Amino acid sequence: MGAISIRNVVKRYGHGPAALQVIHGVNAEITDGEFIVIVGPSGCGKSTLLRMVAGLEEISGGEIAIGGRVVNDVEPAGRDIAMVFQNYALYPHMTVYANMAYGLKIARVPPAEIEARVQKAAKILELGTLLDRKPRQLSGGQRQRVAMGRAIVRQPQVFLFDEPLSNLDAKLRAQTRLEIQKLHRELGVTSLFVTHDQVEAMTLAQRMIVMNAGRMEQVGTPDEVYTRPATTFVAGFIGSPP
Ligand code: ADP
Ligand code: MG
Repeated sequence: MGAISIRNVVKRYGHGPAALQVIHGVNAEITDGEFIVIVGPSGCGKSTLLRMVAGLEEISGGEIAIGGRVVNDVEPAGRDIAMVFQNYALYPHMTVYANMAYGLKIARVPPAEIEARVQKAAKILELGTLLDRKPRQLSGGQRQRVAMGRAIVRQPQVFLFDEPLSNLDAKLRAQTRLEIQKLHRELGVTSLFVTHDQVEAMTLAQRMIVMNAGRMEQVGTPDEVYTRPATTFVAGFIGSPP
């Protein structure tokens, strides 16, 4: 259900001679339930690629299919995805519970179902005792968990993460990494996780896509990429400290 096909995808910003091509024909087949990390230096096109999968950015060429359905049109509402960003904007005036329930209310999910989904997400993320708090009464890590909770309650086929840990300090980052792994173990939802951090990529990925300057340099398990880098770029990037 949550398989993602990325076929020869191209992205240009702008039109005509002034257009800037930032993605140069990316191909990837992601199977249902896989945890894939897209890793590469800042500016290499990771967010652009993820935003195209999310339907937040027009595709200039090629094709993206989710669950067998081609989704080239910009139309995020029709996609069964949920995205977690680096800057998790929670509604400041709403409680943790209301923040997680809000999207479901808008989607007219019945109240009993909303209650059940929020409680389940709160259990997975250990937010049970914080449901009545407002965002300002939470730590950074707790806020990030609420942001993940909002994604979980939607029960999507695909989770998209765009550097969700980069605003956290080292200790919280490690802790949240474990939570994301637990989430994937428990729910088994296809996940695309973008980061510029090699260590984060190596820890989280079942397979990783290494990108450079809008191109895919290598796809493989962390072990394959580490022990048999396909290009000198990969060898240098993966081998160097974060
Ligand atoms: P990453 O997430 O890997 O840091 P991005 O996908 O954000 O990279 O950006 C890839 C390239 O596309 C960069 O050169 C960036 O400046 C450019 N870019 C991103 N968004 C836009 C935009 N809306 N208009 C023009 N250029 C953009
Ligand atoms: Mg980015």
